[in-house]
Amino acid sequence: MISLFQAARRDGWWDTWVRWMRADLDHPSDFLRQLALGWVVGFIAFGAIGWVCYRLGLNALAGESIFLIMIVLLSLVGSFTMSIVLCLVAVLFIDFFFIAPTLSFGTSNKQDIPALLTFAIASFAITGLVRHVRMLGETQSEQARLLDLTHDTVIVRDMDGVILFWNVGAEEMYGWKKREAMGQIIHGFLKTRFPVSVDDATNTLLHTGRWEGELIHTRRDGTELAIASRWSLQRNGGGRALAILETGNDVTARKQAEQALRRSQATYLAEAQRLSRTGSFGWNVWSGEVVWSEQTFRIFEFETGVVPTLELALQRVHPDDVERFRDTIGHASTHKQDFDFEFRLLFPDGAIKHLHVVAHVMKDEPERLHYAGAVMDVTNTRQAEQQLHHAQSELARVTRVTTLGELSASIAHEVGQPLAAIVTNGEACLRWLEHQPPQPDEVRTGVIRMIGEGRRATEIVRRIRTLARKDTGQKAPLELNDVVNDVVSLTQREVLSHQVPLRVRLAPLLPPVLGDRVQLQQVLINLVMNGIQSMDGITGWPRELSIETGVTPDGEVQLAVRDRGTGIDPRHAERLFDAFFSTKPHGMGMGLSICRSIIDSHGGKIRVFNNDTHGATFECVLPPLAKEIA
Ligand code: ADP
Repeated sequence: MISLFQAARRDGWWDTWVRWMRADLDHPSDFLRQLALGWVVGFIAFGAIGWVCYRLGLNALAGESIFLIMIVLLSLVGSFTMSIVLCLVAVLFIDFFFIAPTLSFGTSNKQDIPALLTFAIASFAITGLVRHVRMLGETQSEQARLLDLTHDTVIVRDMDGVILFWNVGAEEMYGWKKREAMGQIIHGFLKTRFPVSVDDATNTLLHTGRWEGELIHTRRDGTELAIASRWSLQRNGGGRALAILETGNDVTARKQAEQALRRSQATYLAEAQRLSRTGSFGWNVWSGEVVWSEQTFRIFEFETGVVPTLELALQRVHPDDVERFRDTIGHASTHKQDFDFEFRLLFPDGAIKHLHVVAHVMKDEPERLHYAGAVMDVTNTRQAEQQLHHAQSELARVTRVTTLGELSASIAHEVGQPLAAIVTNGEACLRWLEHQPPQPDEVRTGVIRMIGEGRRATEIVRRIRTLARKDTGQKAPLELNDVVNDVVSLTQREVLSHQVPLRVRLAPLLPPVLGDRVQLQQVLINLVMNGIQSMDGITGWPRELSIETGVTPDGEVQLAVRDRGTGIDPRHAERLFDAFFSTKPHGMGMGLSICRSIIDSHGGKIRVFNNDTHGATFECVLPPLAKEIA
């Protein structure tokens, strides 16, 4: 009771009364209270009404009707339990006032019992109906309250776009009150802009019952909002489209943040592309459409306003590379493959750029083939490589000349020998001419020998000149055995002076290789000189240098230089082929490094291993010419 008075003071008497009747106040036992309340209210109210009707002399039908009206009215404000109790009380008072004997709860006529039962059933049914209608109403008003609670807009419009419902969320978002919005045609009212055409959106809605997309709406104050909108079609029982429920939420801030992020990402990307000299592109093979990044325009040296096309790119491709460019791209796009290749650009002023292009085929749309790729300006790298190559060949030449210097004693001897022979033969010829009688046959023999020796000297000079020549490397088919013979002759004196027995074993019918004769000579000279030097001072076992050629089981051409020297110290094995690695007091440490780069450039391999007994073997393998051509 105390809580009832407090509630009445707080919320007013009527509200409190209604809530109390409906038993939604805090109370330990609602059901019992409703039961008691029903009896009390029923007895007081229905007793009074029954008494008045009885005094007025109304008949049973009129009395029943008045009770029924009272039950309906009280059911509208009271609880279901109380309404049921009221029905029972009403039956009692109808019996008391209107059924004979009156003013008693008994019945004298048995036929009155079905009438009383009919009234009871009718009143129960009406109470149940009232309860159902009330619950429906409550659910609806709860739903409406929820719709107004959400910050999303909820708008219902008919099929002509006339607004039928406009929630508080819509009022807050667009600035128009419900009464202003109702009856307006929605798209004109909100100046809607669609991402697709209105017809497309409506068609999707009619076919699938739903549509989702981002719209632009204009508020009352003229500002534009990006709205994530969801439409759902409401149909009647017969399937006829009745109305469209449109919910939406404001994504303007998110869109602006995304745009700002995209802008800053684009700025970073452009800067990164500029720094890395890498441009990007997209190519839709199906439509021929090409998209270039800013850096790609810069690499191709076109204004950014120009429409990029494959033909535009081809205008810049070096004439010597155009065919390869077309073939590579054509082949990749026909077979839907990625591509990765290098080509050159030739600019009107004669400048050349080296580009490396990689592109990935996008397979998300099988029919509409398109590529995303990157073009890297690798001009600096290629120029540096060319300079490095130039420096390497210059260094190789210098080492060759240095080696020739080391071989000078042998060379002097090689050339000196035929010269001495020429002089000796010339003197003999003179003597035979001065002889009486002169001996022309002897003279002829002498002159023939002189010519032979002269030719030998010429040949030696030729070989030395080729070796010292500033050669940039010309590959031609050659016999490795010939290279061995050249080197044997050039190093003969060195071998002899170090008293190293030389064994040469050349495989007959050796397949030719594609090589640079001078470079391969240089490799062999280096290996022979190293072998000789490794045996200097060896006295404990017999020394021997052997040069062998052969064919490996894989069909590769093999060259091996075996010595019986100190062998390779395992601690040095890894660094042996490194430039400037030397264990010799005056060694340059370039010999083996040059040997390796020469053999590498011939597509071959060089390796070293210690022999079972003494010394080391350097072994080179080169691909045969037939394989190179294939
Ligand atoms: P350099 O001869 O000027 O030292 P190389 O590159 O030709 O330069 O050789 C590097 C090193 O490899 C040599 O200093 C030597 O220690 C080792 N080496 C080369 N050939 C042999 C060999 N046949 N036997 C043992 N060691 C060798």
